[in-house]
Amino acid sequence: MGGVTDGSSVCADCGASGRFGSCDELFGVLLALDHERRQPWAAFHSVNVACYLLQHRSRTPEAALSGQWEIVTTFVADGLDAVHRLTAERVRDNRRGVRSWLTADRQPPPPTTTVTTPSLVTIEDVSVDGTFPADGYHDRMRRWAESMTRGQAS
Ligand SMILES: [Zn+2]
Repeated sequence: MGGVTDGSSVCADCGASGRFGSCDELFGVLLALDHERRQPWAAFHSVNVACYLLQHRSRTPEAALSGQWEIVTTFVADGLDAVHRLTAERVRDNRRGVRSWLTADRQPPPPTTTVTTPSLVTIEDVSVDGTFPADGYHDRMRRWAESMTRGQAS
C-alpha cells in the first residue's frame, strides 16, 4: 500500500490525513514558531490561528468564530497589513474593556464545508512536511485562507 495510512488518523474537522501528526500537533509546531517571533511565521500569527479555529469548529467557541472569520476575509481581501491594523484595534479595544469584535453584528462565518470541499487547504498542506518551511510560507497561508472563502461562495 506504499505507506498510505488506513484513514484512522484523518482529522474529522478538516479532513487532513494525519501523516505528519494530528492537526493539534501541527498547530503546536506553528505556534512555537510564532511565539519565538521568527519570521515569516510570526507576522501571520493571527491569520493562522483564525484559519485553524475556523477549520476546527468542534474546538472553537461559537462566539469566537465571527471575529476569526473577519481576520480571514480581511487577509484575503486586503492583505496582511490590513490584518495587523485590525488586530491592533482589537488589542486597544481589549485594553479599554471593549470587546466589540466579539459581538454578533459581524458577518458570521460560513458553515464548515471542509470535508465536502476537495480544494480545501488544510494545516497539513501549509506544513508541507510537518515543519512549515519558510520558503513559500506566505503563498501557502494565502491559499489556506482563500480556500475557505472559496468554499463559502459556491
Ligand atoms: Zn484538522
